[in-house]
Amino acid sequence: MKKFLINKKVKAKGYKNNEYDAVIIGAGIGGLTCGCYLAKAGLKVLIVEQHHKAGGYCTSFKRKGFTFDATTHYLGSFRENGPLRKVYDELELENKVNIIRFDPSNVIISTDHKIHIWTNLDATIFEFQENFKHEAENIEKFFKFICNSEFAALYIKLKNKTFKDLLDEYFKDEQLKGVLGVFLGNISLPSSRASALASVVLYKEFVLDGGYYPKGGMQTFSDAFVERFKELGGEIMFRKKAEKIMVENHSVKGIVIDNDNFIPSKIVISNCDVSNTFFQLIGKEHLPANFTRKINNLEISPSNFIVYLGLNKNYSNILENRCSWWCSFNNSYDLKKLVSDLDRKDKPYSDDFIFCAFPSSHDLSLAPPDNEIVILIIPAKMTDNSFWKDSRNYLADNLIKKVENFIPNLSRSIVAKDTASPLTLSRYTSNKKGASYGWASTVSQIDRNTMPLTTFIEGLYLSGHWTTQGTGQGGVSSVAYCGRNVAKQIIKSFKP
Ligand SMILES: Cc1cc2nc3c(=O)[nH]c(=O)nc-3n(C[C@H](O)[C@H](O)[C@H](O)COP(=O)(O)OP(=O)(O)OC[C@H]3O[C@@H](n4cnc5c(N)ncnc54)[C@H](O)[C@@H]3O)c2cc1C
Repeated sequence: MKKFLINKKVKAKGYKNNEYDAVIIGAGIGGLTCGCYLAKAGLKVLIVEQHHKAGGYCTSFKRKGFTFDATTHYLGSFRENGPLRKVYDELELENKVNIIRFDPSNVIISTDHKIHIWTNLDATIFEFQENFKHEAENIEKFFKFICNSEFAALYIKLKNKTFKDLLDEYFKDEQLKGVLGVFLGNISLPSSRASALASVVLYKEFVLDGGYYPKGGMQTFSDAFVERFKELGGEIMFRKKAEKIMVENHSVKGIVIDNDNFIPSKIVISNCDVSNTFFQLIGKEHLPANFTRKINNLEISPSNFIVYLGLNKNYSNILENRCSWWCSFNNSYDLKKLVSDLDRKDKPYSDDFIFCAFPSSHDLSLAPPDNEIVILIIPAKMTDNSFWKDSRNYLADNLIKKVENFIPNLSRSIVAKDTASPLTLSRYTSNKKGASYGWASTVSQIDRNTMPLTTFIEGLYLSGHWTTQGTGQGGVSSVAYCGRNVAKQIIKSFKP
């Protein structure tokens, strides 16, 4: 192994052999959660993060007095005993971040329909039934199936099906099937390609148990984990990019940062992009050929284009409830179109649906008094760099114009404006092509073994949204639970 200098900070700590028990690469929510559980169990843990703040896709930034969430707009699975709630309770985060819930959490708006998702399931079912009276009985059966089935039963019934297969079993009305597919906009897949299991888990954990929001914005949520991690004795380094994971005799030895600073560790957990982890940080020479082929053949989830708007006026007299809006401009609800759009080189985005979030209506502190924040998100794909460099302003203006169908004169009150393309998302988080949810949640890719938490290299673990846990669901609650699971696995087998 090439000789590297032991990192000075590590040396100064005087650890035995200057060694950490565990080093985590990436302070996304998966890495932060894993770090907290390991530190709580008494391990000496270091997190290295390339950015100057924690959170990955769960960060916020400020412009002209507005606090914008960079990507994540709300949290799911926070019901009593829900996966995210369990992590929040077990790590005792309640004094550090307050989670509120908005009700309704979502609304689908089109010229034909306006359907809310309420925290009360019966109220949600009633709205769908009012809009599709001839499918009333099937609607009730469908939602009760999602909510009342245990995961094991869902797994057996749905593992090999697409969401379209499931919708076809319950419904005849094609428009209703289209409307129910709208929420797959979260993972940018059409019903005909999305795994039924992943879609039902998305409904159960994120749509029907959604609408939770951390007071202060998403950065406050991530910072709460950092504070707890430090209280538990963990160390975190910002602006430090892991450049190498050192492997000797099929076993990890530590990581390298800053060209030649070696940080020795018994265990390394990579919470960043898996292709990057294996191809750049470890190196192809350590990988079996069939594993390299496997990674190259997996499909990644699409990315997003985002417009951040700060408005010098409050829309409370016009807008009824500012939960998460799914605005449809395509009344056929043809989600197949959404994906074919993304594959076009000249138009690698879909503007048939625009997702709108209104964070300052849940937390007034995010905007100056009587001002308002609106965030617009559409599915998008990375294409040649010039497209996103040249087209982002034009595209942003077009989306604003479309949303003016629902929010009159929106463009006249804009005082702060910014955009993020797949390039931006990739630049800030190093997720491949700015993928929003790790691997695409297709039928063939959701299996637990597609990318497990343990690897063929001793001491190397994976966590975050590039691992697969058999449910196919990405997102904050899922990566937090993943961080918890990988930590528990490490703690069980750890030998000091
Ligand atoms: C537009 C958009 C909207 C979304 N909306 C929601 C939502 O509303 N609700 C929801 O639950 N989920 C949402 N998601 C998905 C969710 O945000 C992610 O699935 C989740 O946050 C991923 O967490 P993670 O821990 O796996 O890693 P990430 O958040 O990807 O973090 C990885 C971290 O690793 C760091 N890193 C990478 N490489 C290195 C290196 N070599 N050295 C050091 N550090 C490194 C990065 O800087 C980053 O901080 C959204 C995603 C997007 C893009």
